[in-house]
Amino acid sequence: MQAFVQRFQKGLLALFAKRYIAGTERSDALRTARSLNDIGISATIDHLGENVKSQDEAESAVKEYINLLEDIKNSRIDAAVSLKLTHMGIGLSEQLAEKNAGVITKRALDLDNSVCFDMEGSAYTQKIIDIFLRLHKAYPNCGIAIQSCLYRSAEDVRLLINEKASVRLVKGAYKEPPDIAFANKIDVDKNFGIVMNELLLKGHKPAIATHDERLINEALKFAGENSIPKDSFELQMLLGIKRTMQKMLAEGGYKVRVYVPYGTEWLPYALRRLRERKENILFVVRDIFDPRPSLSRQPLLRLLPSPSRHEP
Ligand SMILES: Cc1cc2nc3c(=O)[nH]c(=O)nc-3n(C[C@H](O)[C@H](O)[C@H](O)COP(=O)(O)OP(=O)(O)OC[C@H]3O[C@@H](n4cnc5c(N)ncnc54)[C@H](O)[C@@H]3O)c2cc1C
Repeated sequence: MQAFVQRFQKGLLALFAKRYIAGTERSDALRTARSLNDIGISATIDHLGENVKSQDEAESAVKEYINLLEDIKNSRIDAAVSLKLTHMGIGLSEQLAEKNAGVITKRALDLDNSVCFDMEGSAYTQKIIDIFLRLHKAYPNCGIAIQSCLYRSAEDVRLLINEKASVRLVKGAYKEPPDIAFANKIDVDKNFGIVMNELLLKGHKPAIATHDERLINEALKFAGENSIPKDSFELQMLLGIKRTMQKMLAEGGYKVRVYVPYGTEWLPYALRRLRERKENILFVVRDIFDPRPSLSRQPLLRLLPSPSRHEP
């Protein structure tokens, strides 16, 4: 019975995950990136995986990233890549993760591409920043995500601006204890606004990565008031979230980049997306009981109705 329940739960999650993940294969991610390019949106492709348990697993992730970078180049798709240092083996050894991330970042540099290091749970924050700073000296084509939920982030961003590093500002997808992170969403959002303005004014190709319309409007207003050119920063969002807004921003002349995950290790990513929004449970239930094709199963271009339509 327990095995049945587990299979049922995983089945539900697989249906839910379809909305947020390009597919299990590299070719799925490339196809999704190309359809985003067709409507003026860039991609950053993430090969899903985290917390690897062996050196072999980490090395096989490196091979996949190298193939991905080569495929992006050969197919002339406008896409960078994003990676997690726990996928590169940081949980086994920092040296291993630094070596693996260095191999990918160097190959990206050779191929005129860039790599963003995702930020993970706070057990890794300092280690990820340390590895990033060392690699960034050799490979300026790497950038890093910073989470506005952490008290430390404003200070980290100041340091990264001094290093001329490209920062992707996010709210943070991991549950963190109150001694290091803002407990209330309102404070996470407020800190996002403060750090965002600092990045827009002084950052090096910063990315404002949120679906929060209030914060996006604030970013555009702040940029306009301070004569910050539209092409000096990016607005980034996740695949499957606020698609109409992504397209409208791109049409408005802003640089928009969408995070496109693919691979078989989709469960932790899908769980983070599920946790972010309680209404997502309803999507899961609706997908199961409604035989009509769900939004998530329609091609991207058919998901671009009038701007007034309610979107999740
Ligand atoms: C490009 C990109 C890269 C990221 N990289 C990282 C990273 O490296 N490390 C990290 O910790 N986090 C990362 N995140 C996730 C981020 O930290 C947040 O967890 C996530 O973006 C949700 O927060 P929000 O800024 O959209 O604001 P919220 O206030 O949570 O959401 C604003 C609105 O967006 C919509 N929305 C948000 N989430 C969902 C969802 N799951 N499903 C449907 N609608 C939703 C809702 O309409 C919601 O009201 C990344 C996010 C983006 C966009």
